[in-house]
Amino acid sequence: MTDLRSLSMDALAEALGLLGEPKYRASQLFSWIHEKRASSFEEMTNLPKSLRAKLAERFSLYVPVLVRKQVSKDGTRKYLWEMEDGALVETVRMRYSYGDTACISSQVGCKMGCAFCASGMSGFERNLTVSELLEEVYSMERGGRECEDEEASGALGLHNIETLSHIVVMGMGEPLENYENLVSFIRILGDGKGRDFSLRNITVSTCGLVPEIYRLSEEGLPITLALSLHAPTDAKRQELMPVAKRYSLRETLQAVEAYYLKTGRRCTLEYALIKDVNDSAEDARELSGLVKSIQGSPHVNLIPVNPVAESGFLSGDARSFQLKLEKNGINVTIRKELGRDIDSACGQLRRRMISE
Ligand code: SF4
Repeated sequence: MTDLRSLSMDALAEALGLLGEPKYRASQLFSWIHEKRASSFEEMTNLPKSLRAKLAERFSLYVPVLVRKQVSKDGTRKYLWEMEDGALVETVRMRYSYGDTACISSQVGCKMGCAFCASGMSGFERNLTVSELLEEVYSMERGGRECEDEEASGALGLHNIETLSHIVVMGMGEPLENYENLVSFIRILGDGKGRDFSLRNITVSTCGLVPEIYRLSEEGLPITLALSLHAPTDAKRQELMPVAKRYSLRETLQAVEAYYLKTGRRCTLEYALIKDVNDSAEDARELSGLVKSIQGSPHVNLIPVNPVAESGFLSGDARSFQLKLEKNGINVTIRKELGRDIDSACGQLRRRMISE
């Protein structure tokens, strides 16, 4: 059955039209699903019971089950969700001064095989659907099914919503490998008649799928692009990221530049700092040269690499590397380490659950 959440406003109007319903019902339904984050048909009290029954016969409205939740001392919350087919997916909610940011997954597992990442180590299962991508956000905003008065509040259609202000698609998976679903998810999330999420507050992180970066730049979406760069030379990048064998640094950075020129959105270059691998003075010099070689003054985000037992990597000295880049006039920040006391590295919570 089609999940109703995956339908755009137009597609919903068409589906209701086929059921002989007037157009305004589509607006009501869209608002229930995306604005009020309804988790069942019963909540939709201004829709006739007969229509709710018809919808329930033809469409699903699956809500992921919260399997595990970890809360850090700094307020970071990490969730493990079970999808309808039993697939496990992680999301993280981080607290910042400007609001709460969600880090969501785009696939179940990942096939890109980056050497420092726990997500790829269990292999690839499947893409997440549009409704599952939306539910990663909505389920976190509802707080998960553990909410004590869920039943009572749900019956009134009044979930205890804790709004998220920013979304980064940086969790498990390569978002641009799940291109069509990702773009539909972003369009539905930003629809003013529903969730009305500010698209400027969405960041999509890619390991560097060049054709899809060009394609994304043509979608007319004011989202931020982040490139997982992680090394300043092709040779080093190929050791860390198999995708670097497909696309050279030069063609990857040209695509990033083209994204900026087309959208006007400044891109971010993610750089996971790994001791004795990519943290030398020479690495800083070469990285500075790369950043300066493209238009749009991309901003470098240094990520102290998460310790994952299997990789054996240790984090480099981010502050010292930052100073070297700054001396070369590069705009650089260090990613704030949130949730250090929980399984904060992407994919860790899921891997632990799978191996238990
Ligand atoms: S870093 Fe991203 S693209 Fe690379 S293996 Fe991990 S999830 Fe996949």
